[in-house]
This record gives sequence, C-alpha cells and structure tokens, in this order.
Amino acid sequence: MKKKNFTSTALHSDREGKPEHGVLHKPIHTSVAFAYEDARELAEVFQNKRKGYAYGRQNNPTIEALAQKITKLEQGLASVIFATGMAAIGSTLLSLLRQGDHIVSSAYLFGNTNSLFNTFKELGIEVSFVDATDVENVSGAIQENTKLVFVETIANPVTQVADLEAIGALCSDKGLIYFVDNTMTSPWLFSPITVQASLVINSLTKYIGGHGNALGGSVTDTGLFDWSRFENIYDNYKGADPAQWGITQIRKKGLRDFGAALAPEAAHHISVGSDTLSLRMNKACANAQAIAQFCNDHPKVRKVFYPGLPEHPQHDRALTLFNNFGAILSIELDDSIDCFDFLNALELVVCSSNLGDNRTLGIPVAHTIYWEMGPERRASMGVADSMVRLSVGIEDTDDLLADFQQALSL
Ligand SMILES: *Cc1c(COP(=O)(O)O)cnc(C)c1O
Repeated sequence: MKKKNFTSTALHSDREGKPEHGVLHKPIHTSVAFAYEDARELAEVFQNKRKGYAYGRQNNPTIEALAQKITKLEQGLASVIFATGMAAIGSTLLSLLRQGDHIVSSAYLFGNTNSLFNTFKELGIEVSFVDATDVENVSGAIQENTKLVFVETIANPVTQVADLEAIGALCSDKGLIYFVDNTMTSPWLFSPITVQASLVINSLTKYIGGHGNALGGSVTDTGLFDWSRFENIYDNYKGADPAQWGITQIRKKGLRDFGAALAPEAAHHISVGSDTLSLRMNKACANAQAIAQFCNDHPKVRKVFYPGLPEHPQHDRALTLFNNFGAILSIELDDSIDCFDFLNALELVVCSSNLGDNRTLGIPVAHTIYWEMGPERRASMGVADSMVRLSVGIEDTDDLLADFQQALSL
C-alpha cells in the first residue's frame, strides 16, 4: 500500500506558491506582529473573511509552511501546529468538548495522554477506556453523549494495533469524531484518512522531526467529518464553508486561547527533519525487525512485542494497513537478567525516554514513564516490571545486533 510521491512532496513543499526570494527552505520568520496598510484588511483577517496573519501565537509564515507540509503528508484538508504533541492533543480536545460529553479511548495509551484523560474526568468530561484492538469493545462503550473516539495506531509499549478500519466505519456510522494519534506510524507508514479518521494528531517531536532536536505537535483535519452535524461548534466559527468549522475552532479555542504555539526555529528544525522521514523510517523499521527476531530467538528474552513478528496478535492487521511495522519494540527479560543491568551493559543503545530519534534508545518502562500509573493500571496494559522499550534508530544493523548480543550475555 505504498503511497506515491511522498518524499518528493515533502522535499518540494516549500517551493510551491511564490517562494520568498526563490528560497528552497521556508525562511524562519521571527516577527510576532504583522503590519497592515489597510485597516479594513486587518479587520477581515480577524473576522476569518480573509487569509492573513494577525499575531504570532495564532500563526506565522514559517509555521504555516510546516502546517501545509503536514497536511500534504496526511492527505488532509488543513492542519494546526502546536508547541508539542501533548499541546496538540489537549488543546484540540478541550476546544471541541464540553462538560457532560463522553469520549471512548483506547486503554493502551501514551502515558501522558492517559494522565490528561484522567484530568478530563475531573473536569466533567467522561472517558471510557477500552481495549481498542477489537471494535466490539469500542461499540459497547458508546453512549448517548459520546462525541469522539480516540485511538493510537501502534500503542506504546506493548505495540497493540487498534482495530483502525472497523472503528473508522463505526464512527462514520454513528457520526462520531474519529481522532487518531499517528505518532508511532507517522504519515509514511500509515494514512489515517484511509480508515476514515476525522482528525489526525502527530507528535512532530518523534519521527517527523526525527532528530530529537525540537518539540512539536500537529492536528490535521482530514475533511471527512461533517462539522455541520457537530453541536459543539460556536456560532462565531460557523462561516460559509462547514468544512472549515472544526479547524477554525481548534485554531481559535485550542491554539489561540491555550497559547501553546510552536517557535519558528523549532518549525524549521522539524521541517528539515521531515524531508528524510521515509528514508530514516525504512532503515529504523528494518533494524527493529532484525532486533525483534534476534531477541525472539534469545533464551534470556521471555517475550518480544513487535507487530512485524508473525506471532504478534495483530500482525496481519499491521501488514494490511501499514507500509512497515514501525520502529518501536519492547522486550520482557527473563528472570536471570535484571533490566537495569541489561540497559547499563548496552554500549551503543542509549538509556533515554525519547523515541523517534535516529539513535537507538532504551528505557525500563515500569520504573519510569509508566511509574505514575501504578501497578494495577500497568498490569492492565500488559507492562511487566522487566520490560524494556526500545526506540530503534538508524545505526548499522550489525553494530546494533552485536550490542544486544554482548549485553544479553551478562
Ligand atoms: C510522544 C508522544 C506524544 C506526545 O508528544 P510530545 O511532542 O512529546 O508532547 C503523544 N502521543 C504519542 C503516541 C507519543 O509517542
């Protein structure tokens, strides 16, 4: 299911329209303010009657160039860029939901998203966590006040693949917003629009930026959701074209009011990084597959979680939906080897909490990113104390395998 022209699109995105001075990279615009010779023009920008920039917190030419690039990669209608992936998730949901609303979310979630959703509960937004690898569980949790279904493509750290296609059909049937976090797959491995996603979030910090040198987040409206049927759109944002209602409310209520705007310098880093997304990801996925197979055959590894292994419960689904199986894998070590000693013995692999860097990173998940969750929720997510999550990078495969071999022979 290879998409056509993905990398050419990324590389030449900044040259479309009228490039400033013929530049190949969109310049880093640092001006917070924009001057208008005609005061009426500025008023029209404020009233959404004309495209233009009003203030750096809402948009800027460098940020807009990145937004257009992400929109093209996701084959969507429009995107809004945020300071981080969490800002994209939190601000978007708070801009669209109201007290008394209900959302259904996958129980297998990025830790901070899980924490955020628990805050929503305190604010009067109900959340049901379900095993989203089977659409039946999502369908069974839908209530009269359900507004939205939230899933990740490949979940962290156990690599469950959500029942993406069937959940898309369900949301479309029930008129619910289908919100897909595409961070783990990135638009190179998966296009959520093909499973009828309404909104796609990407943490740009991860594979899209790819170099671990800038935080960022995006939300893309695929154009598939009928916003004219969504009762939470404020009258102010109901312009002539209902297709724009959702993204306008996300930009105004989400980005403008909460204020988590991306800095233009970071947008530049991310945009440069995104040029090589497909090349980096192909190599990282190939390395992940090699490490998964190596660990699977190793007596000191009890279990390997990687969608690229034929015994993974959603292997066939991943094979059908994705371009490749991703670069995240987790291993559960045998009792004969301590996970801290193992991580300390690795020489090339870095002990670090990030993922999606070009360098291979490893972390003991139960003791770090999933610590705050407590033992019960960890157990329900399948996170064992001896689990190590690996975010596989683009090093030479032989060097990585040699590192695992020596660290496992402790
Ligand atoms: C990292 C991550 C996020 C949050 O992104 P930040 O840019 O770190 O805020 C959200 N979802 C998933 C799946 C992630 O891996």
